[in-house]
Amino acid sequence: MPSIFTRIVNGEIPCYKIAEDDQFLAFLDINPLAKGHTLVIPKKEIDYLFDIDDDQYRDMWLFSKKVALAVEKVVPCQRIGIAVLGLEVPHAHIHLVPINSVYDIDFSKPKLKLSQEEFQLLAGRITGEYAKAGQ
Ligand code: AMP
Repeated sequence: MPSIFTRIVNGEIPCYKIAEDDQFLAFLDINPLAKGHTLVIPKKEIDYLFDIDDDQYRDMWLFSKKVALAVEKVVPCQRIGIAVLGLEVPHAHIHLVPINSVYDIDFSKPKLKLSQEEFQLLAGRITGEYAKAGQ
């Protein structure tokens, strides 16, 4: 059975898209730790990040870097924190989370509740920054 992220890649369920190329997709986490919390996934379904082949693994981090730089232009923060868990969705993904303290990337804390309009606004602004950077 395809993962929920593969269903997003296939357009079967919606997402707040940030960026994509032929290999990867970035979209807002639906239960964010912070505004701008973004997930980067490979379009080809694979569960464990460290099972990705070396070339694609390198490309995924480069893609994540470009996305992170766009996120931090939109969401004021000290830096973009990175996390890899994969305990909930068995489809490799990198969490990009705007942080000002270690607490901001504590996955056990309550998640933010954002309206559809807030998600759309954030995604639109981050996509704009990503495009401006000439991606
Ligand atoms: P983990 O697998 O533990 O890294 O967590 C999976 C993450 O995916 C969680 O932060 C969820 O909020 C997020 N998530 C699950 N389903 C969706 C979805 N349909 N759209 C966006 N984010 C999702």
